[in-house]
Amino acid sequence: MPITEIYGPDDFAARPQGKVITSPHAAPARTVSALPTPSLEWTEDVERATAPLYERVKHVIPPIEWPLMAPTIHAISELKRARNAVILAHNYQAPEIFHCVADIGGDSLQLAVEATKVKAGIIVQCGVHFMAETSKLLNPEKTVLIPDSLAGCSLAASITGADVRLLREKFPGVPVVAYVNTSAEVKAEVDICCTSSNAVQVVESLNAPTVIFLPDRYLATYVASKTDVKIIAWKGACEVHERFKGEELRAYREADPSVQIIAHPECPPDVLAEADFTGSTAHMINWVRNKRPRRLVMITECSMADNVRAELPDVEMLRPCNLCPHMKRITLANILQSLLTLGEEVTIDPELAVRARRSVERMINLKN
Ligand code: SF4
Repeated sequence: MPITEIYGPDDFAARPQGKVITSPHAAPARTVSALPTPSLEWTEDVERATAPLYERVKHVIPPIEWPLMAPTIHAISELKRARNAVILAHNYQAPEIFHCVADIGGDSLQLAVEATKVKAGIIVQCGVHFMAETSKLLNPEKTVLIPDSLAGCSLAASITGADVRLLREKFPGVPVVAYVNTSAEVKAEVDICCTSSNAVQVVESLNAPTVIFLPDRYLATYVASKTDVKIIAWKGACEVHERFKGEELRAYREADPSVQIIAHPECPPDVLAEADFTGSTAHMINWVRNKRPRRLVMITECSMADNVRAELPDVEMLRPCNLCPHMKRITLANILQSLLTLGEEVTIDPELAVRARRSVERMINLKN
């Protein structure tokens, strides 16, 4: 059913004006037991210790760059042990982080859920701020660190908790679904969360004729095309995925009719219309593993194509990808710093956390 109603910040006269900040909860670095600053020299020991890691990324990181990265990667491994820490990395992190320092990689929900199963007391989240918040929601007793708390997200920044309350006033009794790409403040105001993998299932689980779905207008459009539930959307968008154009994909297809195209549902409808497969990051990766296409156009953030190519070098990737500037705020250097100083710690107001956690857990507990 096509979307007929879509709202945004300009549609509410009562909305407080001003810039939306999505990373206000990171606490300053604490005073912690000092650890010696590690040596970052390229030595024979470092070369030997990191050789198995280079094997994983040799198809995407040139040999000339490895001596510049390997000492920091080695130092991070040592510090992880000393701090009893675990590193979670989103699929959009650069290969030297995703394949070489992360203990767990995946999409935001996979990361948070997996984190509940680890024994380490410290989680370093290599991703953006809402992901670190989700990890903190599901692991309240653990210390969650983000190497750069300014790693935001255009989707999370598009809506506030006050916006959700205004939507509820306008549509009393209509349930609200929030994509996980939202702040804890927004999650606290909604009925249930969803990911791009389970969005249709979550919407239909509410057994309501109409659902407010926020904040991604394109994911909302995709969901609306798959269900009879009427969707009221919000005008948010991912600044990475909304830049793709259907015409650029048609050009790839004309150049090589055998090329396979897969796209993330945060893309506009004219892009999805050109795709052979549409799915979340986790579903896209599984699709490539199963199908092993000869030549592939992966319509999502650039680093995911690198990470898949590192694992499956026989798949030729064509690269009309876009970088996420927020994801790229996380670097080997600030991961190292985070482990040394235990900064920046993600904290969430306890009362708000109870309500936000309920929305996330309601989604996790949905039967498949
Ligand atoms: S890729 Fe898009 S949705 Fe993901 S963090 Fe970047 S801006 Fe947000």
